[in-house]
Amino acid sequence: NQSQKKQLITVLGATGSIGVNTLDVLSRHPDMFEVFALTGRSQIALLAEQVIKFKPKYAVLETEQAVNVLKEFLKDTQSNTELLFGPQALIDVSADSEVNIVMSAIVGAAGLLPTMAAVTAGKKVLLANKEALVMSGELFINNVNKFNAQLIPIDSEHNAIFQCLPSDFTYGDKTASGIAHLLLTGSGGPFRELSLSDFEAITPEQACAHPNWDMGKKISVDSASMMNKGLEFIEAKWLFGFDEKDIQVVLHPQSTIHSMVQYIDGSVIAQLGNPDMRTPIAYGLGFPRRIDAGVKTLDFNQLSDFSFSKPDPQRYPNLYLAIEACKEGQAATTALNAANEIAVEAFLGGHITFTQITQINEQTLEKQCHTKLTCIDSIIDHDHTSRLTAAQVLKEVCKC
Ligand code: NAD
Ligand code: MG
Repeated sequence: NQSQKKQLITVLGATGSIGVNTLDVLSRHPDMFEVFALTGRSQIALLAEQVIKFKPKYAVLETEQAVNVLKEFLKDTQSNTELLFGPQALIDVSADSEVNIVMSAIVGAAGLLPTMAAVTAGKKVLLANKEALVMSGELFINNVNKFNAQLIPIDSEHNAIFQCLPSDFTYGDKTASGIAHLLLTGSGGPFRELSLSDFEAITPEQACAHPNWDMGKKISVDSASMMNKGLEFIEAKWLFGFDEKDIQVVLHPQSTIHSMVQYIDGSVIAQLGNPDMRTPIAYGLGFPRRIDAGVKTLDFNQLSDFSFSKPDPQRYPNLYLAIEACKEGQAATTALNAANEIAVEAFLGGHITFTQITQINEQTLEKQCHTKLTCIDSIIDHDHTSRLTAAQVLKEVCKC
């Protein structure tokens, strides 16, 4: 009986780009999934529409005021959804015993605690929020094992690698699987061919206009600076247990190959598709089964110009900064992530130039202390201190 086997899902960050795509895939499979909770921060009108359509048990916002606005939107509807607010509510709807699947799609460090709550409650966790893993990598993976959670990467590159690994792949054991390298592909973003002398004048609108992917603002700016690929490098290390030397970044402007695994016999296995996040989302939702994602079939007659190159360090300093931080360890990657969140927000707000993002990241990384982060509290503390340092650096950089 299908209806008895419906999986209950919490979508963290339901109003964002990944959240909306997740609900699109879910709406194609009403017999398989039921929404338990939806969460959002701004875009309350959109959350109201989602609540009406998916009838979750709970909807969560950040503040009581926001809940009151949502109540107003829902007042003439028959909605029975219970409205909650605050960080503990995010944790509660992630860890609730009724929940089977948690989609982690809040952007930034704010996603860490609810995602960790899903992990420690042993859920099937669909991980889009890369910042959580960048901050807490080792602890995160240890908890996945300790609490028997099922972790499926949704970031398209890691989802591709997950699909290209052998089914008996053991975490961190590339030798047993005959793997030579993980090849992370990246498009190079909108400024792949822009003259370096024009970087100063880049506007937030230009940075957010990704040539192939339609995404939230923060990840779009990260894609333009290739900090995104840097964060993904760190993410790959923790997800698959690989050394830095075994992960390579390849520029592939067409974004058709979403990443690859290179084997010792010379084989390279790649996952291809149109750049549409509903593919990895559907793969995660249905795993181990394949389910319809609503994605256009890849038409090989339309594909031309399949090209590859190495990312230029002068054009993409943030990528190499992240790789260095990855080699240095957890305190460095947490500090870099915090600095980058502050810097990108300042750039989006019109307070600094695109190239100053790099300055803030570099200088915060230099000033950070080299503590060992062993528990979630120390990670949160270090994130907080790094944000203060970054805010100080930001003041100096923009003299504001
Ligand atoms: P987005 O900005 O479109 O959406 C973010 C969501 O998080 C929204 O629902 C927002 O309301 C919520 N949110 C933001 N700040 C919050 C806070 N402080 N507390 C609670 N909720 C908050 O972002 P997105 O593009 O959907 O990306 C989400 C995550 O997925 C990011 O970590 C991103 O790196 C990752 N990701 C996105 C894509 C993509 O195609 N968009 C691809 C790969 C990975
Ligand atoms: Mg990605």
